[in-house]
Amino acid sequence: ESALAVLDRLCAVIPDYPEEGIVFRDLTPVFADGAGFRTVVEALIEPFRGGFDVVAGVEARGFLLAAAAAYASGTGVVAVRKAGKLPRETFSQDYALEYGSATLEIHKNDLAPGTRVLLLDDVLATGGTLAAAHALFERAGTQVTGIGVVLELDGLPGRERLSAAGVDPESVHV
Ligand code: IMP
Repeated sequence: ESALAVLDRLCAVIPDYPEEGIVFRDLTPVFADGAGFRTVVEALIEPFRGGFDVVAGVEARGFLLAAAAAYASGTGVVAVRKAGKLPRETFSQDYALEYGSATLEIHKNDLAPGTRVLLLDDVLATGGTLAAAHALFERAGTQVTGIGVVLELDGLPGRERLSAAGVDPESVHV
């Protein structure tokens, strides 16, 4: 079964969640399916093979993908966390949400300068989350050589935003 078929079969679509007018794509049934999860993780990392030294995932669903991708590639994994969770010195990046703002953080000294980072998340919507994560790794002196998502939502500026920041994202499914 192809990754596209897995996603068409198992991704749940929830209207009016978390609020009215939003159609939420829920990938947890994909993560819960052994063969499906492996197929989707393989498709997610395929475009980047050999081009990264470490995999980073954005809290929280990105952690699941990044850990699996790192294990499959024999690399380490880095957690891009929400504010206040990391115990040592951090780089911290604020970004805008539809209502209000949020903050992402990484530890300052976990990666050597020049490390090639593959940045992963489950869904690309407006691109604010991955743009903030990208900025963190730039500030750390590392190089984001790839950005991968399982699903890219149509009709939102995520792709343009990340391309403007210097990395064209790859998505398993649009
Ligand atoms: P963005 O910052 O607007 O691109 O939103 C992406 C972030 O919000 C990611 O971390 C996603 O996990 C989450 N997100 C946005 N829309 C959805 C959705 O439909 N399903 C699951 N996660 C979503």
